[in-house]
Amino acid sequence: MNFLTGHFFYNGKPLASAPLWGMSVLKSGNMRFRWNETNPVREKFFSSICAEKRKALQPELIHSKTVYEVSSADEIFQKKGDGILTSNKFIVPAVTVADCMPVFVYDKNSNVFGVLHSGWKGTGIAAEAFYMLNKKYGSNPDDLCFVLGPHINSCCYSIDKKRAEYFSENFGSSCVSSIDGNKYSLSLTDANLYLLRKIGIPDGNIFVSKECTCCFKENGAFKYGSFRRQTSSLPQDLPLEEKQKHFTVQAAFVFYSF
Ligand SMILES: [Zn+2]
Repeated sequence: MNFLTGHFFYNGKPLASAPLWGMSVLKSGNMRFRWNETNPVREKFFSSICAEKRKALQPELIHSKTVYEVSSADEIFQKKGDGILTSNKFIVPAVTVADCMPVFVYDKNSNVFGVLHSGWKGTGIAAEAFYMLNKKYGSNPDDLCFVLGPHINSCCYSIDKKRAEYFSENFGSSCVSSIDGNKYSLSLTDANLYLLRKIGIPDGNIFVSKECTCCFKENGAFKYGSFRRQTSSLPQDLPLEEKQKHFTVQAAFVFYSF
């Protein structure tokens, strides 16, 4: 299998009846998604996961906190945002990530499931998903299960003082630590745990993947594509569109295995 997959957890136990979360790896290839492009690698990847009639759907990512809840493909067509939720088991909600954190969600109350793209700008999107589910279905915090998927860990994620202050103020001081005078390391895990605990999600409903997309190796080879690692030798001022040719984005998705 050229992707990883796992369960949601409720009260510390894997939920057999819930959908599964999944994520492609470096060797799966580049899963880049744009509305105005075709990507044969991505299409082939999802055709192996999506059995007949099922369809992977995602918004075009913009590093926002915008989440869509959809019941058909039409409702997401041409939309931009960073999260997608559904209760339709024939939809495979997806985002792409390359160091940013994929946040997988399952609501035991409404059976809505989905995935969010949570980079530094989008940190907080997990709470947006909860507010949506609470407003529409009356879901309580202890109905929700979250998986914080593979992302760049604090071992590789250095940030400047300004960003460190922003995170410390909004997501608790324990998510940043000082490396030297002007450099800090950021833990997106700790920032999101702070956020989820603040809205009342029980620890037993949260699963955290510990593999760092930037440095984790399996059998001597890097397991994930990584923006930081794969663009580290490029000129700093290279436009993002150019840099995008040099790193591999992963697909992160939620699916029913029937
Ligand atoms: Zn690392």
